Formats: sequence, C-alpha cells, structure tokens
Amino acid sequence: ALGGDLIILDGGPKESFPRFLSELSGTVGLPTKITWNRDYEPFALQRDQELETLFQAQFGIEVETARDHLMIEPNELLKNDATSGSPFYQVFTPFKKKWLQIFESAEVKGRLIESAEGLNTQPRALARVLIDSKIREQSTRCLEEFLRDTALKVKIPIPAVGFQKALAQAHFFTQKKLVQYPTQRDLPAEKGTSQLSIYLKNGSFTVPQLLALLVRQPPSEAREKWMSQLIWREFYFHILAHFPYVETGCFHRKYDAIRWENREDWFERWKEGNTGFPIVDAGMRQLLNTGWMHNRVRMIVASFLTKDLLIDWRWGERYFMETLLDGDLAENNGGWQWAASTGCDPQPYFRIFNPALQQERFDPDLTYIRRWTEGQNKIVPLVDHAQQKVKALQLFKSIA
Ligand code: FAD
Repeated sequence: ALGGDLIILDGGPKESFPRFLSELSGTVGLPTKITWNRDYEPFALQRDQELETLFQAQFGIEVETARDHLMIEPNELLKNDATSGSPFYQVFTPFKKKWLQIFESAEVKGRLIESAEGLNTQPRALARVLIDSKIREQSTRCLEEFLRDTALKVKIPIPAVGFQKALAQAHFFTQKKLVQYPTQRDLPAEKGTSQLSIYLKNGSFTVPQLLALLVRQPPSEAREKWMSQLIWREFYFHILAHFPYVETGCFHRKYDAIRWENREDWFERWKEGNTGFPIVDAGMRQLLNTGWMHNRVRMIVASFLTKDLLIDWRWGERYFMETLLDGDLAENNGGWQWAASTGCDPQPYFRIFNPALQQERFDPDLTYIRRWTEGQNKIVPLVDHAQQKVKALQLFKSIA
C-alpha cells in the first residue's frame, strides 16, 4: 500500500538470487550495488561469503556490508596482550570492562548519534521499487503458499511486529519500566523485563538503537544492569564467532565426554510441562503457549533438564530453537551451555539449582505458577531432586 515491493522467492539464496537477478537483467535491469548487514553465525558467514563472490564475479554487482546487529563486532574487541595465549575473551567480566572502554570512545559515540538520528528519520524513509509484473506475480504466489503453510503450523498468537512497534516498546521500557528492572527482572510473574528480544532477533530493532535510547536516561543502577544484559548478548556473539565449534560441541571440550542418560520419555514430559515440578512446568507451558519464556525460568528449566533429568543440553537447545520466537543461536547456545556448566564462564557444575528453592525465592505467592498451570492435575514429581543432584555431580566429577 505504501509503494514498496517485498519479493519472496522460495528457495535457497544460491538458487534464488541467480534466478532473480537473471530475470531483473532481462526486464528492469540489474542493481549496481547490493548491501546487507553482517551476520556472525557460522552458516551465515559462509552463505554471505558465497553470495558476495556470486554477485561480484557472476553479475559484476558491487557489495557493501554494514554493522547493525552488534554494537561492537567480534574483530573489534580483542585482549590487549595477546602474546600469552588466546586473543579472545572467554570470561564475561573482563570482556565487559573492555567493551565499556570501547563504548566510551569517540568513534562509538559518533555511531550512537547516527543511530539516534536514524530513529527519527527511519519511519519516514519509505522505499519505492519498481518490479516487473512477472516477478511480482511469482512472488505473490510464493507468499500466499508460505502464509498458508505457516498458518497450519503456528499455534500461538504472534506478537505485533515491525520497527514501529519495537520503537514504541523500547521507549516505553526505557522511560517507564527501566527503574524497576533491578528489583523486578527476576520475578517471572511481573512484566519486569523489556520483552524486546524478539525484535532484536528478527532485526526489527538493533542494540545500537536501544543504546541510543538508553544513554538518554540518567545514569543509574538500573541503566547499568540492563546494559549489562545487552553486553551478555554481545559476549555470546563474540564467543560464537571466535569459537564456532560451540554450535555443536561443548565450549570446554572435555565435557563432550559426559555420558548423559538421555531418557526420551523424560524429555517428552519436560517439553509438555508435565514433570511435577511446578516452576519447571509453568515455564515450559509459558513457552508452549506464547513462544517466549522469562529468563529466570529459562535458567531453571535448563538446569533441570541437564542436572535433574541428566539430558544432553543440545536436546533442550534444539527444542528452544524450535519453539522460541526469539530463538537465536548465539544466546541460546550460550544460555544452555551456561546452565549445563559446559560453556564459557558458566554456572559452576557443583552449584545446582533446587527447583523448590527457586520457586520460593522468585515466585513466592505462586502467581506465575498458577497462571500457567491452572487446571493441571497434580503430578507426581518425575525424579527426586536430591538423588539426581548426586548423580549429576558424579557425571561431572567422572571427567573433571
Ligand atoms: P531483558 O531482560 O529486557 O534484556 C534485554 C536484552 O538483553 C534481551 O532482549 C537480550 O537480547 C539480552 N539478554 C538478556 N539476558 C540475556 C542473557 N542471559 N544472555 C544473553 N543475552 C541476554 N535470548 C535470546 O534472545 N534468544 C535465545 O534463544 C535465548 N535462549 C536462552 C536460553 C537459555 C537456556 C537461557 C538461560 C537464556 C536464553 N536467552 C536467550 C537469554 C534471555 O533469557 C533472553 O534474552 C531474555 O529472557 C529476553 O527477554 P527480554 O528481552 O525481556 O530481556
């Protein structure tokens, strides 16, 4: 309606782009330049490299890439003294210290100003692209098929989408909710976190844009705390970029030898939210019904799957990727390996969450649990936490 055209081609980029560009060259002509924002996942790095070669070598089109997914990119943040060992940070606190130093630099300040200006102008910048009717017809058909297919699979209400919605939510959070973040962020019954992760994941909004809004707020504990979470996000992207093997293996490779028990029936019960541990079941049901789960509860259910049910963290990671609307390889992998104690700077393996104590501390009046397990029959707990804790410790000690 606004005059822009979205073309959806149903195929991999290596087949779709040559087809699309060949059709363009025979109709409206080739573009002179193609631009995109950089991505850091192993799959994406390889894909982008191949496409760059294809555009330049086969079609003679110039390529320009830009940064927007991260404030500070993996190759910009290295240890000062790389002579002794790896130049890459593997522990969050020193990473954060270095990140904050770079954040204070004139170069980053300049970029924040640009982001802030972008926030003012972006809503008005509407694209007008003229596309040949044959291509339009083909892409409309693909879109219709895609939507039909998706409607069959998606069982949850999809949240409002797009830049405008994300901008409104970011304004609301930074202006109205941020002050309560330190006291409310761990209480799953409250709307105490920003719920912006979906927009960061799908690119409707970026961390530089969020930081441009955040620095308008006066310095406070709340501001520091929330910024710290954004830095955790960057940390996990750095880890994935510099240690790409974490995509399939443990960051600390020795833990690849752990002999997880991997009981499929227990895994099913965990997925359904039928373990008999109310805080775990509430979390799994929130995920099933909304496609999002509170961070405190993500930590609890991940710890429970690995340390109580003794199931490989990769099973849980995969299930999260299938069900989370904000599912993102870097953070999901980082979060799972943190909870499973196999990751960089993880929860120490001997500190095992007790679901009952977590519940007492973070949902004392059971508001969150009641909200998500209403109507659920009382279930006999699947395991005995104390016994499973001993087994988990043995699993880790056997290879430590
Ligand atoms: P807020 O508290 O408002 O935080 C703002 C932003 O900071 C988040 O949107 C997110 O981008 C970042 N952030 C916050 N906490 C973390 C954290 N612990 N690690 C890394 N970044 C963080 N986050 C995802 O975006 N995608 C995932 O797939 C994902 N999987 C996770 C799996 C497990 C097992 C765990 C323990 C955590 C996972 N997280 C993931 C991190 C975190 O739970 C979510 O980012 C957060 O719950 C999103 O809600 P929010 O936007 O309201 O967060």
